[in-house]
Amino acid sequence: MSRNNPLYEGKAKILYEGPEPGTIIQYFKDDTTAGNGEKHEVISGKGVLNNRISEYLLTALEEIGINTHFIKTLNMREQLVKAVEIIPIEVVVRNITAGSLAKRFGVDEGIVLPQPIIEYYLKSDKLNDPMVTREHITTFEWAIEEELEEIGRIALRVNDFLTGLFKSVKIRLVDFKLEFGRVYDEEGNIYILVADEISPDSCRLWDVETGQKLDKDLFRRNEGDIAKAYHEVARRLGIIDGDNNVIDEEKGNVQPITPVVKTNPSPITKNKNPKKDK
Ligand code: UDP
Repeated sequence: MSRNNPLYEGKAKILYEGPEPGTIIQYFKDDTTAGNGEKHEVISGKGVLNNRISEYLLTALEEIGINTHFIKTLNMREQLVKAVEIIPIEVVVRNITAGSLAKRFGVDEGIVLPQPIIEYYLKSDKLNDPMVTREHITTFEWAIEEELEEIGRIALRVNDFLTGLFKSVKIRLVDFKLEFGRVYDEEGNIYILVADEISPDSCRLWDVETGQKLDKDLFRRNEGDIAKAYHEVARRLGIIDGDNNVIDEEKGNVQPITPVVKTNPSPITKNKNPKKDK
C-alpha cells in the first residue's frame, strides 16, 4: 500500500499517521543496514517476515500481561500501533556473550552468563549509540528513576518469556534489544509500553543443536542469507506454513491474526509531570 507523508523514516521502518488520533502505522521495509547504516542492502521479503514475527512476539507478550504498543496487523508490511513518546534509550538484554559485549571486554562469544545483563545505549545515530549508565539516563532526563525501574522489570520478564518461547522451538535467545515508549492518561499518569519491534533484526538467535545463526549477524558478518534464516524462525514459531523460502505477498501464506485480550495497565507514576498532556 502506498501512503503519503511519512511522520518518520528510519533505516528499516517508516511511520505514518494512523487512522485515529493516538495511532501510528508502522511499515516494515526490506532495507537492511548494519554499522550505523554503513552497510546497506534491500533483502526481498525481510520486511514481511519481521512484520509477522514482531506481531507474533508482541501479541504473545500482551497475552502474559506485558503492555506493548501493538494494536493489530493491517497487512503484510504494516501494523497499527499506539503513538507513544519514545524513550531515547535502547535496552539490551544479554544471556550469552556475543557482539559488542564480547568485543568490548575481549571475551569469547558463546559463554553463558550466570545471570542476564541489562545494558543501556543512547539512541543517537550521530553519536553512534553510545553505551550509557542509569545515572546518565536520569541526569540527562531521558527517563526518570521510576520509569527505569519499570523498564528493567519488563525487560527481564520479556527475557524470561522469550527465552522459553524460543527454547521450545530449539532456538537460543542470545541477546536482544528493546525500545520503550511512554503514554499519558488525562491525569498525566505515565504508562510504559514495549515499542518498536522484536524480530531477528533486533535479537541474536542461535539454533540449539547446530549453533547456526538465525539473525541479522548473518548480514552484518556476510555469513549467509537472512531472508532464509528469518523464514526459518517464522516457520519454527508456526507463523508460516510449509518449506517454501519465499513469502508471496499477494497470497499471503501466513496464518490469521489471533485477537488479543488487552489487560488494563496500571500507571507507574502518579502525575509526576502534569505539563505533558497526551
Ligand atoms: N541491536 C539492535 N539495534 C542496535 C544495536 C543492537 O537491535 O542498534 C541488537 C542486536 O541485534 C543484538 C543486541 O542488540 O541482538 C546486542 O547488540 P550488540 O550490542 O552486540 O551490538 P552489535 O555488535 O550487534 O552492533
